[in-house]
Amino acid sequence: MHGDAWQQRLRAAAQARAQQHAQRRLFAVEHRHGTRVRVDGRELIDFAGNDYLGLATAPELVAAWRDAAVLGVGASASHLVSGHHAAHAALERDLAQWLLAPRALLLGSGFAANLAVLQGLLGSDDVCVQDRLNHASLIDGARLAGCTLRRYPHADVDAARRQLQRPQAGLTLLATDGVFSMDGDIAPLPALAEACAAHAALLYVDEAHALGVLGAAGAGSVAAAGLASDAVPLRLCTLGKAVGCYGAALVGDGDLIEHLLQTARPYIYTTALPPALAETARAAVALAQQGDALRATLQARIAQLRDGAQRAGLRLMPSCTPIQPLLIGDNASTLSAAQALRARGIWVGAIRPPTVPAGQARLRITLSAAHTPDDIANLLTALTQVLAESADVH
Ligand SMILES: *Cc1c(COP(=O)(O)O)cnc(C)c1O
Repeated sequence: MHGDAWQQRLRAAAQARAQQHAQRRLFAVEHRHGTRVRVDGRELIDFAGNDYLGLATAPELVAAWRDAAVLGVGASASHLVSGHHAAHAALERDLAQWLLAPRALLLGSGFAANLAVLQGLLGSDDVCVQDRLNHASLIDGARLAGCTLRRYPHADVDAARRQLQRPQAGLTLLATDGVFSMDGDIAPLPALAEACAAHAALLYVDEAHALGVLGAAGAGSVAAAGLASDAVPLRLCTLGKAVGCYGAALVGDGDLIEHLLQTARPYIYTTALPPALAETARAAVALAQQGDALRATLQARIAQLRDGAQRAGLRLMPSCTPIQPLLIGDNASTLSAAQALRARGIWVGAIRPPTVPAGQARLRITLSAAHTPDDIANLLTALTQVLAESADVH
């Protein structure tokens, strides 16, 4: 073995990424207020984030964060040792009440929560059925659990049903994103719930992009589908997207939650969220829950973008959520379109494989209640110019 084996491995991987225009880079935000960000000294309108209600920098939450600072900085320990604070317990009660579910359990992040659910509930005799476009953390959770992972084509309920029908010894859990993070479409939850009920499978819905956005009081995709909490015994709520904070909670059946508290390693072996963050998140949850006016504004911005795009001949992917992707196809064109948009003051995500399937690179445009009608008009103008120029080049 040569002494520089790992260096060679890394060089080869970096070269392959460069060849495929798959390299990623960081942009440091120097300042953010609402949808306005400064990056490399340039002012941009942010159409790349997940702050759907504009709460991440809202003055009320900054004030709540400042007030909560008296609780200190760190939690000092994991929940089950000595890190569980009354603010955590109160936030768990607030979230359970919001989602009309018996109980909630806070976790460090949505990624950790998905690992916790699948590792805590499934083992080598069990099966996890998943939509092909589910978030990476759900795929990784199934790997960590050591269960059999069966994936069905995106939103294909018949295919899901066939996976559920296959005989097997242990437990079956079907996991799906409620709103798909890179496509913006909504999972066919009523039909999936019916299939799960027919085959005694446990349905788990990841509400990362639906919480605060869909359903009565913003309670998410399960609420929007009119499903009761016994049809979907467990849901993931992330606090870093529409809620504007950080962290996550599992919300659902009391026995499931208690089992996860006792067994899920990504819950047990990690420091609790800062109590001040939990206290701030309580204020954010109240704003999101009472955010009907923000949701109406968000829907108006979505309608404006889709109408304008149709008139301009821009083919957005089918979506009625704040995630409005524009399929480009190849990586290099997607990167150059995103760069040309930044030069016009517009920041969108350039999403490439492996985040999306090969050949489906896209601009991931996300809207917020904090965008103004002028912001949407500027976005439409910039998109039209940039895509016309790239059509000239090709
Ligand atoms: C963002 C996201 C997660 C991870 O949540 P974090 O709190 O950011 O770790 C999980 N699932 C989906 C669908 C997501 O989009």
